[in-house]
Amino acid sequence: AVTEEKGTISIHTENIFPIIKKFLYSDHEIFLRELVSNAVDATQKLKKLAALGEFNGELGDLTIEVSFDKDKKTITVSDKGLGMTGEEIKKYINQIAFSGAAEFVEKFKDKTDAKDIIGKFGLGFYSAFMVADNVEIISRSFKSAEDEAARWICDGSTEFQLSAATKAERGTDIILHVNADSEEFLDEWKLKGILDKYCKFLPVEIKFGTKSENEEDGVDEAGKPKYKTVTTDRIINNPSPLWVKSPSDLKDEDYLAFYKELYPFSEDPLFWIHLNVDYPFNLTGVLYFPKVKNDFEMQKNKIQLYSRQVFITDEVKDVVPDFLMMLHGVLDSPDIPLNVSRSYLQSDANVKKISAHITKKVADKLSELYKKDRADFEKKWDDINIFVKYGIISDEKFYDRAKDFTLLKNVDKQYFTFDEYKEKVSATQTDKDGNVIYVYASDAGKQDSFIQAAKAKAYDVLLLDGVLDNHFINTLEQKLEKVQVKRVDSETADKLIDKDEKLESVLSDTEQETVKGVFEKAINSKAMTVAVESLSPQDLPVVITMSEFMRRMKDMAKLGGGG
Ligand code: ADP
Ligand code: MG
Repeated sequence: AVTEEKGTISIHTENIFPIIKKFLYSDHEIFLRELVSNAVDATQKLKKLAALGEFNGELGDLTIEVSFDKDKKTITVSDKGLGMTGEEIKKYINQIAFSGAAEFVEKFKDKTDAKDIIGKFGLGFYSAFMVADNVEIISRSFKSAEDEAARWICDGSTEFQLSAATKAERGTDIILHVNADSEEFLDEWKLKGILDKYCKFLPVEIKFGTKSENEEDGVDEAGKPKYKTVTTDRIINNPSPLWVKSPSDLKDEDYLAFYKELYPFSEDPLFWIHLNVDYPFNLTGVLYFPKVKNDFEMQKNKIQLYSRQVFITDEVKDVVPDFLMMLHGVLDSPDIPLNVSRSYLQSDANVKKISAHITKKVADKLSELYKKDRADFEKKWDDINIFVKYGIISDEKFYDRAKDFTLLKNVDKQYFTFDEYKEKVSATQTDKDGNVIYVYASDAGKQDSFIQAAKAKAYDVLLLDGVLDNHFINTLEQKLEKVQVKRVDSETADKLIDKDEKLESVLSDTEQETVKGVFEKAINSKAMTVAVESLSPQDLPVVITMSEFMRRMKDMAKLGGGG
């Protein structure tokens, strides 16, 4: 028999270690993100200790430096943060999945707001072994003297060596002895690219190499300006990006300048939303509405996702509803876990809440713009309609919020809300069954004669010529009661709206039949209908149409789908 027992599950480090090193992260390049974010944490912690009076020395220059040596095959990340004693290295580094960052936040949670500490799981450091055979730490704690520094080295097995070292400055150097498979990282532009991607908005200045610029230096004898080359540290990041600032301190110019910083070659955005939520989840960021033309597919993946100013991904598919993928900008949430897989993201409760919040904010903003200045909203409509329509088609909740400000534009460039439009055309465009028929053109040029014929009957003609308008029309018919939508060339003007009126043609029946025969033969298509029923000399003599039903069938076939 088994005796009842309680115990602790044990882990064989030598078995679990390779799993952590190889499979925890899919992308090798993120080792740099992890090491630099540790350096940032070390610096932020020191600043917090100083603020609490637990560190009384000079903070001095706190710049983090990333460097590499192609000959020695090393990459080094150096900080002037709080450093570690030998004991602390044993505690924080040797214990996998023990996070000194989490411990710090817990210890000071009543005294200081530690929202900006990045680390959490105690796993990031080991990502260094994805690219390095040996990882070396040389660290001097803010509590230790120059000759009391510590040196730790590990070759990626479960064995490490710890020894005494001397280090002139406070802080930590992490030195990676790059492995043979990872020599691609020993390259200035490769490293610069990775830093630009992940570290661009980290809150502590990060130096990587130097930059040289020509500066004016007086004038020569001929009075021409002289130049000298000035070499300075190259700081790769902007430590206080716009989204972490308070909206009340920011002007339109600031938002536009930040947009240019994110997308250097883009046209100015139309407007933006500054997100700033504390509860029930934490979310900051700025979302911009770009000018969306019909090439909206190209505009995707423009939103960057950050967690405490560390870049995570620009694949925000799971965080942002599909129709908002056309927006540009930045989202930052510490509640979106840093080192997790995508399938986890999808099921994460916070992520779902964030997505719903963004949808609401976007609808609120549009509604506000509409209410504040209708004329201006109409001016912007051509640029934003595709995106509002996408939302309306794909998101029930968004439809409910957007139905009061979504506009319909007619061929005379007048704009109407759903309610206004129904009101406008009800009297003239209701058929014998009480359906209101909306007539639209999908190509104002080609369908002009039909448009004129419809107008001659006092019908209003909408212009629905965008890439999403076929779907938009379906949504209108589903959502608006007793509304049917017909393309202007789907019938002759007389039959567009069946009002049960008796119509007399100026041609006799036989004359009509003869002309009809001639045209049908010429067209030779079952999908088209020929009508020869001119009621007056002003009417079009012969009209060739394709019914709304046939046309939609054809459109669907063209799209290659059945629904
Ligand atoms: P996390 O950052 O999630 O806590 P890591 O594995 O990245 O986990 O780091 C483990 C711990 O090692 C950190 O929490 C910190 O206490 C310590 N550490 C790592 N890098 C540094 C550094 N540059 N300076 C001081 N401490 C560091
Ligand atoms: Mg870390």
